[in-house]
Amino acid sequence: MITRTENYNLRSRNTFGMDVSCALFVEYDSAGDLAQLDWEALPKPILHVGGGSNLLFTGDFPGTVLHSAIRYVKFVDMGLDDVLMTVGAGVVFDEFVQRACDASLWGAENLSLIPGEVGACAVQNVGAYGAEFKDIVSGVVCFDTHTGDKTVFKQPECAYGYRDSIFKRPENKGRYIVTSVLFRLSRRRGPRLEYGGLKAAVEAAGGPVTPLSVREAVLGIRRAKLPDPAETGSAGSFFKNPVLDRERFSRILSAAEGQEVPHYDLPGGMVKVPAAWLIEQCGFKGCRRGGAGVWPKQPLVLVNASGSARPDEIVALKDEIVAVVRARFGVTLEPEVVIV
Ligand SMILES: Cc1cc2nc3c(=O)[nH]c(=O)nc-3n(C[C@H](O)[C@H](O)[C@H](O)COP(=O)(O)OP(=O)(O)OC[C@H]3O[C@@H](n4cnc5c(N)ncnc54)[C@H](O)[C@@H]3O)c2cc1C
Repeated sequence: MITRTENYNLRSRNTFGMDVSCALFVEYDSAGDLAQLDWEALPKPILHVGGGSNLLFTGDFPGTVLHSAIRYVKFVDMGLDDVLMTVGAGVVFDEFVQRACDASLWGAENLSLIPGEVGACAVQNVGAYGAEFKDIVSGVVCFDTHTGDKTVFKQPECAYGYRDSIFKRPENKGRYIVTSVLFRLSRRRGPRLEYGGLKAAVEAAGGPVTPLSVREAVLGIRRAKLPDPAETGSAGSFFKNPVLDRERFSRILSAAEGQEVPHYDLPGGMVKVPAAWLIEQCGFKGCRRGGAGVWPKQPLVLVNASGSARPDEIVALKDEIVAVVRARFGVTLEPEVVIV
């Protein structure tokens, strides 16, 4: 079924809580509906949204916003260790994680409580606590808006990287709409606890280590650190962690004036530096600029601090952070959030 609403307010459709609207909002609940749509007649441009938790609308959207209400979860037992789960793109990602953990399946538990819907998470290759979407996906089913056909991408064809995939390439922008995802989970894989205090949290809870107990530990850590989208508007990490060559990393070392600089060595001699550390060093942690602010417990997260921040206030704070970090460390932070 397809539902259409003109002049639709998007405030409840973006976790930043921006009070903006679109010319037309279209929701559908099957892949077949997409083939039936009169694409030519839709106001342009066209934007597909999920939970709106990785978007910053900078004003009213003049075109069509599409949203999937394809919400099914199916288990296919492969015998032995593996279980496949086919999940509709409109399923809330954390509901899928909960279902997998409830079924004692390993693989998704570290990704607990990441906001958003399954379709967008396939585009974004979401990650947390040493796990990424790419580790558990077997295939991504899409509607190709250029040909009107169903296209299935096997995991290697998705070209997953850090918050990146083939679906984000400029030449594919807006082309593929994810309609469902095939996950491969395991009865035996076992826990990955080496990141972000997860091991200590699981041990502190006591009892057997299960997908559900790891999920509970992740929920506790995330709730303590990140704003709850129901209470404080944000889009999670606003910037990507910069990946630098040795020369640019040494500029940071000299600007840090003897302080220890947290970093991760990557293959090929590159170095990843936490953007949160760079932002904190520039004094932005917990700052307020009008309605916008930086979350006091995690400086990578820009927030709608007043609850009624305007898009231009968030954009101005973003620009200020980029300029100050660039002036001090010679690094240009890039948004992880999609700015519309
Ligand atoms: C408090 C908070 C914490 C967060 N923590 C994390 C974290 O730990 N790790 C992490 O990786 N991310 C995190 N995020 C970011 C966010 O959860 C992810 O980027 C998530 O994948 C966004 O999903 P969404 O459904 O809200 O997508 P949206 O924001 O609605 O859209 C994101 C992008 O996907 C496209 N898109 C949406 N649906 C489809 C579809 N069906 N087909 C094709 N394209 C589509 C959109 O056009 C857009 O380009 C966090 C966000 C918040 C608010």
